[in-house]
Amino acid sequence: GSNLGQLHFKIVLLGEGCVGKTSLVLRYVEDKFHEKHFSTIQASFLTKKINLEGQRVTLAIWDTAGQERFHALGPIYYRDSHAAILVYDITDQDSFVKVQNWVKELRRILGDKVVLAIVGNKIDLDKERNVPAEEALEYSKSVGATHYQTSAKTNRGIEELFLDLTQQLLRMA
Ligand code: GDP
Ligand code: MG
Repeated sequence: GSNLGQLHFKIVLLGEGCVGKTSLVLRYVEDKFHEKHFSTIQASFLTKKINLEGQRVTLAIWDTAGQERFHALGPIYYRDSHAAILVYDITDQDSFVKVQNWVKELRRILGDKVVLAIVGNKIDLDKERNVPAEEALEYSKSVGATHYQTSAKTNRGIEELFLDLTQQLLRMA
């Protein structure tokens, strides 16, 4: 068939191990959640087709196979991405610092064109929160990224994250 009128975007997920990257994608694409952490057994990417503003859009969402634990994710993984979703765990301050390192690297290698979304995940664990939402929002604005607070467990904020990101990508296409 013809691909006329069909837009393809590559979105890459980055962030420390265990922050919930795989869970966010599985929740969005398959509406599933697992309490268990799967580090190795997943596809390198999942696709989601959506219709938005009269456009047919295919999102190729790239997840890691756990290489982040070995600091083994280089430009080959993210170089042709239209957008990056940078995930931290709101109970883990170190994971937020890791996101800031990713922002620096992505801006340095990919420049201003890449759309960045910074995501504070696990908001169902608000009682154990260590990263204030206001701080993350201020930081995100300062680097030209949008900010979302999500829970893959309770399915909060995830539809909005991907919808908003796709709208930004459509505006730039
Ligand atoms: P990844 O290494 O970044 O891909 O993280 P995973 O998606 O494998 O999730 C790591 C662990 O965190 C798993 O035990 C998940 O069940 C759990 N997890 C993921 N998202 C959430 C969430 O929103 N809330 C809670 N409470 N746990 C989550
Ligand atoms: Mg994973």
